Amino acid sequence: MTLQRTFDFSAAKALLALALLAIAIPAPAAQRNPPAAREEVPDAAEAADGRENIAPSGLQPVFPAQMRCAPIASPYGSPTRYDGSARPSWAFGGRHGGIDISLAVGTPLLALAAGTVMAKGEGGMLEGIYLWLRHAPADTGLAYWVYAKYQHLDALPTVDIGETVKAGQVVARSGKTGTAGRHYGPGGYPHLHLTTRKSTHGEQSLGPRGAERGLFLFDPLAIYHDAAAGAGAATADARAVPIPYAGADGTLNPSGTRVVWPVACAPGG
Ligand SMILES: [Zn+2]
Repeated sequence: MTLQRTFDFSAAKALLALALLAIAIPAPAAQRNPPAAREEVPDAAEAADGRENIAPSGLQPVFPAQMRCAPIASPYGSPTRYDGSARPSWAFGGRHGGIDISLAVGTPLLALAAGTVMAKGEGGMLEGIYLWLRHAPADTGLAYWVYAKYQHLDALPTVDIGETVKAGQVVARSGKTGTAGRHYGPGGYPHLHLTTRKSTHGEQSLGPRGAERGLFLFDPLAIYHDAAAGAGAATADARAVPIPYAGADGTLNPSGTRVVWPVACAPGG
């Protein structure tokens, strides 16, 4: 790629004049200190940007009868952690930016739909080892693109960036990276934190925490809700969300579903 830009001297002079003017006029004291940089926001796992507005969706998962599925320990928008303790107010107004599912270390984590591996890496405190998947409308049947982040993984996932994955495919193992210390103590808290963001397009880049313009946090349960609605499987209670799932053998239920719970369900209610 070549950059062929004509240098515009008049524009440069105007900019220089503006810059000098800005230096010459002292800013009011309150504006002299810039707001804390994004990296200084003392959150990492729960959401990406302190300005984000997180509100509970009111959706309730309905897991299949006669099956054991890993439930939500702390829902999206919740002011409390899995243990009932209050979330700190400095992190997104004390609201949870995803869902937590308590899991034994090493539990297989499944792609919630077909998609593409966008990123993986090792974050620090509160973030841990993570994986980003991107799901196109063609993958899910939804009207929007889904960007899903799996956190606190046990190890760096072996799936490659750019690789395509199938719904229900094992893409990572759950862990507790990034959770030890502070509230959870030295032992940490083994769980999956799943964050989902939606966009109108598939060209989103992912910032340090995933918050980018046009990429909005939302309740992962909305994916299952919207998929059911799209399939004409509306429930009597609009807030009740039937959860499609994969069995341990990889079978998707109900058959033909394009979205599944990120952890396999096992027989036995
Ligand atoms: Zn969480």
